[in-house]
Amino acid sequence: MIKFSLLLPLFLLLSIEAFAQSAAPKVAKLLPPEQASSAVILNPKSLAKTTFGKGLPAFSYPLSKAPFTTYDGGVVKQAGSYNFPASKNIAGVYMDLQPGAIRELHWHADAAEWAYMIEGKTRITLTNPWGQVQIAEVEEGGIWFFPKGWGHSIEALDPKGAKFILVFNNGKFTEQSSFQLSDWISTAPVDLLTQYFGSEQLVKQLPKKEVYISRYNPNAGPLKTAYSLNPNAPPIPVSHVFNLLGQKPVAEGKGGALKLATNKEFPASFDMSGAVMTLEPSGLRGFHWHPNADEWQFVLKGQMELTVFASGGKASVSKLNKGDIGYVPLGYGHALKNPSNVNPAEILIVFNAGDYQSMDLDQWISTIPVSALSNSLQIPVESVEKLLPKRKETFVGPR
Ligand code: MN
Ligand code: MN
Repeated sequence: MIKFSLLLPLFLLLSIEAFAQSAAPKVAKLLPPEQASSAVILNPKSLAKTTFGKGLPAFSYPLSKAPFTTYDGGVVKQAGSYNFPASKNIAGVYMDLQPGAIRELHWHADAAEWAYMIEGKTRITLTNPWGQVQIAEVEEGGIWFFPKGWGHSIEALDPKGAKFILVFNNGKFTEQSSFQLSDWISTAPVDLLTQYFGSEQLVKQLPKKEVYISRYNPNAGPLKTAYSLNPNAPPIPVSHVFNLLGQKPVAEGKGGALKLATNKEFPASFDMSGAVMTLEPSGLRGFHWHPNADEWQFVLKGQMELTVFASGGKASVSKLNKGDIGYVPLGYGHALKNPSNVNPAEILIVFNAGDYQSMDLDQWISTIPVSALSNSLQIPVESVEKLLPKRKETFVGPR
């Protein structure tokens, strides 16, 4: 069990409760303590004089202001539906590992893992149910995808260590719900371990509690000198790492650009996809929605204003700083703007679907008879012809 000292009062409370109900065999799993100051909700003028945010959860979470949980070898913070209620189907973890530290061998029972390297370098290992393995190094701008349940590890390399963001396709996911190898071994019956491994001497040396992050042997050495106990383990035929930042943009305009990794560009990533979006100063990613996926956002550089349309006269505008998270539920209309007229912004975007589907408002209205648009919007035909955009413009510059 990962320990959070901030939760000691809650732990005591739960212990008393568990004691009172003597039938309860074990204290409930602790929830993470990460809480941040509240989201920055804006209320600009709308045609309907909307009170933005009213009747809606916050669609942003100020992760940049949330405290880290510190371990020997790294720091971690996380956000999911437990501290960011809008984030129903996707959770995120920010991790900063020191050089030589390893996020120990583990797997996830409740989510796939999609990750983006922010800074530094890691060596990942991934083993699948067919005994195939991938050992690879990932640098800044690279991503990896680990399907649900596959065993993996993440090791930070010299000289900078590694800062990365992990995204999981389950809002309830927490690091505490990960299945750590050391947790398994230390909680298994000793006689079973002895029979299984065939060595009492080994069992005496095994961890007595969960490791989670370790710097016991921080010398990974060069990748080409790395060797396994089974040198004949076959490689996974499809790569689970991908250079996202090295791709050509799939959409580009005066206001920004989008680099994309769907299951088309990165076939291993079959049920998640992601993108890096650049927004120029005052740049706008225009009005759109996604018919098949929730959208999870992380501000890598600069700032962002996220406008969400939730139907029924409800809408929300929030301001996000570098390191903050945004969330747009499946089908909700939205637009992203860089509020700075000086600095560019860079946004990491992750979807809980393998392909990318976007319904863009300007593209939609350009396909409809002019008379129907006039009738629907209650504006003259001349206004439809002269004033509405005739084609899709994903990124709009300042005007
Ligand atoms: Mn993991
Ligand atoms: Mn979107």
